[in-house]
Amino acid sequence: MDKLIIIGSGPAGLTAAIYAVRGGINTLVIAGREAGGQLMLTTDVDDFPGFETGIQGPELMAKMRKQAERFNVRFIGEDVVSVDFSKEPFTIKTETKSLSARSVILATGASAMWLNLESEQRLRGRGVSACAVCDGFFFKDKVVAVVGGGDTAMREANYLSKLATKAIVIHRRDALRAQAALQSLVKSKSNVEFVFNSTVEEVLGQDKVTGIKLKNTQTGEISQIELDGLFIAIGHKPNTGFLKGQIELDERGYAVVKDEIQTSVEGIFVAGDVSDHRYRQAVTAAGAGCKAAFDAEEYLENLVSV
Ligand SMILES: Cc1cc2nc3c(=O)[nH]c(=O)nc-3n(C[C@H](O)[C@H](O)[C@H](O)COP(=O)(O)OP(=O)(O)OC[C@H]3O[C@@H](n4cnc5c(N)ncnc54)[C@H](O)[C@@H]3O)c2cc1C
Repeated sequence: MDKLIIIGSGPAGLTAAIYAVRGGINTLVIAGREAGGQLMLTTDVDDFPGFETGIQGPELMAKMRKQAERFNVRFIGEDVVSVDFSKEPFTIKTETKSLSARSVILATGASAMWLNLESEQRLRGRGVSACAVCDGFFFKDKVVAVVGGGDTAMREANYLSKLATKAIVIHRRDALRAQAALQSLVKSKSNVEFVFNSTVEEVLGQDKVTGIKLKNTQTGEISQIELDGLFIAIGHKPNTGFLKGQIELDERGYAVVKDEIQTSVEGIFVAGDVSDHRYRQAVTAAGAGCKAAFDAEEYLENLVSV
């Protein structure tokens, strides 16, 4: 039996592993089929401290993994399919193995929701993004659009309005559903425009985004807008499907937490985007991983002393 199992090998899981193993805890990481997490899908990461000229996402994750391996963290490259957290030791089933642990850190991240257009997927990282804080800087003094009408879309539009010459919010309904304060903030920006009742039918461009094709949901009319960047802000889905009924999840599927890290089950901790729908950054996920490792260490110490 492992003392601690960490599920997920993005910045949160790998940081938790480095801290846990250096704290003397025998640690296994179930890395998942998409080992390395979301940063494996991106190119330039310019905001992770310590890399003065930036670093490529996959290179950053390879460095984190090597650092964990230096301290003899063990890895399994499979997905977890089910867990039983009703009794301790906890049981974790992967695609081929049944494992048990005295404590678990869940660091399974979240996935951005996409429009699922062929052109959108082809141009991801070439003008199509789901993270303004991560990629907005590449669109300084350019024209961008944000797809969505909720809080996330307003935050993205607000952020981009400070960099781009123009940010166009495209929403499929006739009114936004973001909270009023966020709506007012974005509407007060002179360089933000709104296009309502419209869906993106196609992202235009071969090697990089040059524009979008829109369809008016009421008239069916097709139009085009020239722009340089397209930010999809229609929500994120936390990777918690296998946790249903095991820990408390909110209506969107995010882990419900106490003190940021503790789930509804004692001994089960969370870190990173799996519970954080607000900040969603590599550095905040890594910070949460560190906190989760400390809390797991304290929990395990108390188990031993009773
Ligand atoms: C295109 C893109 C660009 C970005 N650019 C930046 C940037 O420049 N700067 C920045 O700070 N942030 C950036 N982000 C955000 C950043 O990547 C995330 O905030 C960060 O990766 C979250 O880390 P995490 O460890 O919580 O989750 P993730 O990185 O999502 O990792 C989750 C891990 O859990 C695993 N997993 C999921 N389900 C299971 C399962 N059932 N069993 C086992 N394992 C599982 C996955 O395989 C993965 O290893 C970007 C995100 C994207 C999508």
